[in-house]
Amino acid sequence: MIQSIGVIGGGQLGRMFALDAKRMGYHVVTLDPQEHSPAGQVADEQIVAAYDDLSAIELLGKTTDIVTYEFENIAIESVQYLENHGYRVTPSSEVLRITQDRLLEKQFVRKCGVATADFAEVSRLEDIGRAAVDIGFPAILKTTRGGYDGKGQWRVQSLEEAEAAFAEAKGATLIWERFVPFVREISVVATRNAHDQVITYFPGENVHDSGILAITMVPARVASAVSAAAAKIATTIGHGLNIVGTYCVEFFVTEGDGLLVNEIAPRPHNSGHYTIDVTQSSQYDQHMRAICDLPLAQPRLFSNAIMMNILGTGTGDHLYGVDGLLLDPTIVLHMYGKRHAVARRKMGHFTMLIDGPIDERAIARAQAAHALLRWG
Ligand code: AMP
Repeated sequence: MIQSIGVIGGGQLGRMFALDAKRMGYHVVTLDPQEHSPAGQVADEQIVAAYDDLSAIELLGKTTDIVTYEFENIAIESVQYLENHGYRVTPSSEVLRITQDRLLEKQFVRKCGVATADFAEVSRLEDIGRAAVDIGFPAILKTTRGGYDGKGQWRVQSLEEAEAAFAEAKGATLIWERFVPFVREISVVATRNAHDQVITYFPGENVHDSGILAITMVPARVASAVSAAAAKIATTIGHGLNIVGTYCVEFFVTEGDGLLVNEIAPRPHNSGHYTIDVTQSSQYDQHMRAICDLPLAQPRLFSNAIMMNILGTGTGDHLYGVDGLLLDPTIVLHMYGKRHAVARRKMGHFTMLIDGPIDERAIARAQAAHALLRWG
């Protein structure tokens, strides 16, 4: 029986997971190099150590009944270590191997029979000319590993720009992706359990700002056939990955309602935060159910919603305007307990409950609420 859960990573996803796990009475231990990390503040215990510190990983395995992780840029060796030493850990190192590498991930998605943007590997300078011919411009070059929130990405229009990006990447292997002139971006958060059952949430519609998620609107403004197709693809990917836990599949919706998978996250996702406030079982609750082998819940959406991220600006660590924001009873505010509001750091988010459809008026209302906030 599982009574305690270990979480590698102490960020906001770990924090929201820990809060749900605590609600269910589990003992939560988190591992993060930073003291008082967002998850560490709410967990029962925090091990302060690097993600690849194997003696600390061993301690995490020893002191808990099952280990999970809250972001994918951790050392795969840590997950393998737990697997090889008889500790329970999920998702598996195989899931991590695929999702840590954009090339392996896109190849995997294609193997599942699902479309992606055209892509090619660029590991040597000579690869650039070939990719320029085979895939073409405009393109986005991305580091295959380690990039997130728009880091390690270059939008290029010419050979010169591609070569400059290659030089800037300092020898890191890149993926050359055809730029997709998408109509919308959507994502499906899903959870698979060890019995191969998959539940999916309602696709959210995402707006990014320089590679970082800014807004998620639920439900996405797409035809029901597109929602159903996206849910089906997310389910196929969950089965293919054999993942146990919550994951997210991000899509581009193209002209004519085509769907291309952009990315898979093997963990709860920023675009699924809304599930805390407007469903009966959040993405974190479902993750806990999956890893503890409890029944999954078929999600019910109690209200339409718009989630807006609150990013740091580097202009101060105090958030002004919260009192004004909370005058609106349709807003639920979540702050992550991070001390320094460094520019573009995810500091918190709010969910605005929307009566009626997601339309320009609703979006303008959420943006006006967001504009009340200011760091100083
Ligand atoms: P990613 O890190 O791959 O999720 O990329 C971050 C964001 O950059 C995406 O959500 C898109 O807004 C944009 N982006 C990434 N790849 C492409 C692409 N091939 N075509 C168009 N936009 C892209």
